[in-house]
Amino acid sequence: MKCNACWRELEGQAITTTCGHVLCTEDAKKILSNDGACPICDQVLSKRSVINS
Ligand SMILES: [Zn+2]
Ligand SMILES: [Zn+2]
Repeated sequence: MKCNACWRELEGQAITTTCGHVLCTEDAKKILSNDGACPICDQVLSKRSVINS
């Protein structure tokens, strides 16, 4: 499985968003601390919409 934002191979913890994209924790953190929109589909994400998988 690869991060949908930076395409690095996911190692260990990954984040699945409610829009169905998979992000590494690094990108998820970046997104949540900036505009909060998914880089792939532009759906606005909130901390609550991010699920640890
Ligand atoms: Zn990433
Ligand atoms: Zn998305």
